Amino acid sequence: MMLLYERKEECCGCTACMSICPKKAITMIPDEEGFLYPSINHELCIECDLCKQVCPFSDTYKTSGNYDQPLVYAAKHKDDNVRMNSSSGGMFTAISDYILDIDGVVYGAAFDEKFVVRHQKAETAEERNKFRGSKYVQSNLIGVFEDIKKELKKERTVLFTGTPCQNAGLRSYLNKNYEKLILCDIVCHGTPSPLIFEKFIRYCGHKNRSSIKEYYCRFKGNGWHSHTEKAVYANGKEDSTSLLSQSYKALFYSHVALRPACHNCKFCNFSRPSDITFGDFWGIEKSMPDFDDNIGVSLLLINSSKGQELFQRISKNLCYRKSNTTDCLQHNLHTPSQPSPRRNKFWQDYKNKGFEYVLKKYAGYGLVPRLKKTVVKVIKKIGLLHVVKRVLGRG
Ligand SMILES: Cc1cc2nc3c(=O)[nH]c(=O)nc-3n(C[C@H](O)[C@H](O)[C@H](O)COP(=O)(O)OP(=O)(O)OC[C@H]3O[C@@H](n4cnc5c(N)ncnc54)[C@H](O)[C@@H]3O)c2cc1C
Repeated sequence: MMLLYERKEECCGCTACMSICPKKAITMIPDEEGFLYPSINHELCIECDLCKQVCPFSDTYKTSGNYDQPLVYAAKHKDDNVRMNSSSGGMFTAISDYILDIDGVVYGAAFDEKFVVRHQKAETAEERNKFRGSKYVQSNLIGVFEDIKKELKKERTVLFTGTPCQNAGLRSYLNKNYEKLILCDIVCHGTPSPLIFEKFIRYCGHKNRSSIKEYYCRFKGNGWHSHTEKAVYANGKEDSTSLLSQSYKALFYSHVALRPACHNCKFCNFSRPSDITFGDFWGIEKSMPDFDDNIGVSLLLINSSKGQELFQRISKNLCYRKSNTTDCLQHNLHTPSQPSPRRNKFWQDYKNKGFEYVLKKYAGYGLVPRLKKTVVKVIKKIGLLHVVKRVLGRG
């Protein structure tokens, strides 16, 4: 009997196996953590093994036919408004604008009406704008690889943007060097559980007695260096300051709910499965302080000659400087995020005690932090913060 993976750490959920199956014998089913995994219908399976061969986590999979070392740039979109609406320096908009200008199609991750993150297709700037901004949730790719193949067969230019494992899965599924396909991946910290995000969105709606209308995982109102999240509610309330509004971020960074395969990621290095990689140029304030204006600087890794040609075409819309693999080095360019030692306990607690309990226990949303925040707010309001700081010896 054919099995696709032995351990969950060996499946990134990219859907390449499902998409390649000639008998449509594979479906993607959510596990108890809300991550999608392939499941084989053995009555339909003909054991052709294509699903195993296509897997970007298989040992025979070559991560890249690209440059040995990428060309490295720090770059900013010239339009500050674009950068304010992007998570880093607006590289995705610069690249996708060019693709749309030449009548191409763009694939990226967007929230659907229920805040499920799905990869979608865009043919206009308005549709593309939904892909702007990082969504710290694993996106659903069902049906997308087949759709991309159809567009490529129609000779259209296709831009695919996503995590490195999603890019690797797509490359492997297509198994052909399409001249008109451009692959872009992000530097990736890991993707959290769609189930936990769904519970979070619902919990916020319940607490505020109004549903969330918009959600920003990277709101730049406090600057690019400060990771702030923001919710906009149907009743008009905007929240980027309460403990609740920052608690999803706390779960993301605590590594209790990342996909198991993220801890076994094969792409935390400079051998990328894409033509261009974009991320945040963390550390820019040290290597090029005069280039950092706190609106966002992108890290650009140019991984192939196709990527280099594209970079030349879009460069008129960018301010950029050459850098190197030392100055731009960040954790997930050399090591996968490690699982929290409390990961198992988190899921056990979630199962037995529910979402509110884990939010309080693992995301700093408990009674004591909430009281502390209220006291500080009151002290600030009555203008006594400096007095309190002096008394505590911190002023
Ligand atoms: C889960 C996740 C983890 C990340 N971790 C890091 C990190 O550790 N270090 C770092 O430097 N950068 C990281 N990034 C990338 C960074 O936050 C920006 O997304 C990237 O620099 C692009 O910014 P931009 O200004 O060019 O464009 P933006 O307009 O912000 O474009 C967003 C791009 O990200 C894609 N995207 C958004 N959400 C998802 C998702 N859930 N799955 C797949 N693709 C998505 C969109 O399709 C689009 O191409 C991460 C992004 C995500 C989604």
